[in-house]
Amino acid sequence: MSRSFFQRQLPPTAGLPLLWRDLLPPRADFSDRLAQELGIPPPLLTCSGTAALIIALRTLQQRQPNRHRIIVPAWTCPLVALAAHYCPPLKIVPCDMEYGGINFDRERLAQLCDSQTLAVVVTHYAGRVADTAAVIKIAAAHGTAVIEDAAQSMGAKNAGESVGLAGDIGFFSLAMGKGLTTVEGGVLFSRSAELQKEMERQIARDLPWRAGWELRRIIELWGYRLMYHPDRLDWVYGRQLRSALNRGDAVTAVGDDFTVDDIPLHTLGHYRQRVAASALTRFSAWQQQNSLRAKSRLAELRQLAGVTVLQDGPHQQGVWPFFLLLMPDRASRDRAMQHLWTAGLGVTRLFIHTLFGYPAVMPLCLPSPIPNAEDFAARSLSISNSHWVEDDDFALIVSVLRAVLTT
Ligand SMILES: *Cc1c(COP(=O)(O)O)cnc(C)c1O
Repeated sequence: MSRSFFQRQLPPTAGLPLLWRDLLPPRADFSDRLAQELGIPPPLLTCSGTAALIIALRTLQQRQPNRHRIIVPAWTCPLVALAAHYCPPLKIVPCDMEYGGINFDRERLAQLCDSQTLAVVVTHYAGRVADTAAVIKIAAAHGTAVIEDAAQSMGAKNAGESVGLAGDIGFFSLAMGKGLTTVEGGVLFSRSAELQKEMERQIARDLPWRAGWELRRIIELWGYRLMYHPDRLDWVYGRQLRSALNRGDAVTAVGDDFTVDDIPLHTLGHYRQRVAASALTRFSAWQQQNSLRAKSRLAELRQLAGVTVLQDGPHQQGVWPFFLLLMPDRASRDRAMQHLWTAGLGVTRLFIHTLFGYPAVMPLCLPSPIPNAEDFAARSLSISNSHWVEDDDFALIVSVLRAVLTT
């Protein structure tokens, strides 16, 4: 296929674009503003969501030094499992999910959770709200902590309350593509003032200010301001995606080719915090627009026979960075991706494999049967809910899905 120099490339998720004035930000306390915006205690800030998880785990390890296992969903970001490398001798127990959904398989979880389990990580994928209450019930019986991984769901609410507050500890990610961004960043909090204090002390010990990393991230943040636009994203995203797919390397294509060496530990610098505080003033209006757009597009996606679209249950008010879909089978998903993945329309896959599919993660994982998570990995795809996805783009995506479903 021939491509013009300026190939249009839609972003795979709805990231909040920066304005030039965000880069010359006034003084502001980002943590206080986040607390106000989200209705959470003033959060601690880290260099990444993964670093936030590492701090959470190390803090819990101080409390219960004899527990050496954490349970995580078998289909999740490989970084979640790699965090265990920084908390020796912690090992990962991947737990299967319910069939066709984002929650744990409760029976499996109840079997796996025991007095050796330091924590269970509940994951709010794709802006959705996972069932934390069910997990708390199982974990509490063993004195096991519950961590809410809300990396993809900042702004999502359950019964009017921010995700991350029901469990012991919650965290958001400020990585590029997750919504509000500092290029990389993490937001860590607990409804327990005591745990929050302990995590604050852990951060003071473990996260130094590192000038080299901070400078690099500031340059990248300016790069985001410049390049995060459909006219320019092909240069920094689309081309790499196509060349990785041409090599048959789907893991690199979606940016999940992480190793333990990809997790620097340092602070989140003040300049980037101020940039994010400036962008935060547009956050809630922007999320409302995303929700409105999602509502009408969800109605269209629901018409596709045999397709499951992840949505909110009663009392859940999720956010909409992208739509997460399950096709009827692997073959139809793969046919859809063949037509859509390199079309520049913002259709991609979230995590390519279950945790057992990543060589860097394997040494940290204990074996466990995970048929439903395998099925989820085989059938899922994602559709961007960026405001740059026009109605025509979306109609084209739906027509391709309809076509592959009937062949
Ligand atoms: C991105 C992500 C993380 C890690 O966050 P980073 O800020 O990229 O370190 C953790 N969990 C989930 C579900 C994620 O999507």
